[in-house]
Amino acid sequence: MTGELELVVAEAEELFRDLRLGAVRRWKEETGGLAVGYMPIYVPLELFHAQGVMPVGIFGGGDQLEIIRGDAYYQSYICHIPRSTIELGLNGAFDCLDGMVFPAICDVVRNLSGMWKLQFPDRLVRYLDVPQNFDPEVGGRFYRAELESLAAELAARGAASYDASRLRESIAVYNELRGRVRDLYDLRRREPWKVPTHELYVLLRASVVQPVEASIRLLDRYREAALAADERRPMDQARVLVTGSFCEQPPLGLIRTLERSGCYVVDDDFVQIHRWMECDLPTGGDPLASLVDAFLADSVASPVRYIGEETKGRALLERVERSGAEGVLFCAPSFCDPALLDQPMIVAAVEAAGIPWTAFKYAENNGQFQVIREQAGTFSDSIKLWSD
Ligand code: SF4
Repeated sequence: MTGELELVVAEAEELFRDLRLGAVRRWKEETGGLAVGYMPIYVPLELFHAQGVMPVGIFGGGDQLEIIRGDAYYQSYICHIPRSTIELGLNGAFDCLDGMVFPAICDVVRNLSGMWKLQFPDRLVRYLDVPQNFDPEVGGRFYRAELESLAAELAARGAASYDASRLRESIAVYNELRGRVRDLYDLRRREPWKVPTHELYVLLRASVVQPVEASIRLLDRYREAALAADERRPMDQARVLVTGSFCEQPPLGLIRTLERSGCYVVDDDFVQIHRWMECDLPTGGDPLASLVDAFLADSVASPVRYIGEETKGRALLERVERSGAEGVLFCAPSFCDPALLDQPMIVAAVEAAGIPWTAFKYAENNGQFQVIREQAGTFSDSIKLWSD
């Protein structure tokens, strides 16, 4: 790696590995503002920003955390992210957060929001119920009311009051961030050897634990350095789309393993929040309506949205087509209901289209990848040897 590229990736990795959220602490010292954590997958980041609140993505403890107390809160047959999140809450890693928002993803997160309320009664704890009815007159009105009440709760905790013109400005800032992320995804699609996924991934993880403006600068520096890295040459790897990893994130070692086993990841759903909306949001008009409309009409076909099976199968096939993927890796956290319940329907669509696929599961704290390496390596070889 060249100097600047190495530097940017190291900076991002440091932010990603900092479970005590040093960048958030520094921002709070400098600004005196509120910081509020949120669980994956989607929350309206623009609204927090417009009220002077730093939204902080909480994506679990990964493979760096020993779970001591977290296990006592959960039965054994559920995913890992709630255990590590509660562990981090109890060990003080999140004491810089003034609150937590739990978006409606699944029962596990709903349950975690209740536990958080009991454990941290003095902090803001908000369950954000997002609509599962996409009619503007039903789900739209409901979601708008949710956003208004979230804005009021933030203001009651000391954030700035809701202001439409500030929200329009914040939407413009997040459009910039979304644009930068989209550009990097496009570049990786075209020339995956220039943007290895393990680098893109740490940049995305860094982007949720520091101010948005700093994230935009980091992504710009990375793009420039990656484009200038002439020493990176294409290799004979299979192009794969990875799906199922939208909430609990795979360990970085797993992503590296996929790449080392002969796969170029050309699309994925890691840290999906900056790609949750497929288009930029309007920066004029009623900004709350823009957030609502975008959520209803432009959100990705995620397993946590109650939309038709055919829509999800079709959306995945479109992504395969767009990314030029030669195969699909279903890579979901163990016990993740939304991912694993959708998988048979999506597999049916992929099989009907004659696209090679394979599946495996992980936990965020896995440390051994030999079996996955063999499976992904065999998959990649079979694509290279026998695909059209
Ligand atoms: S990993 Fe899956 S089951 Fe676990 S909290 Fe996330 S969406 Fe829910």
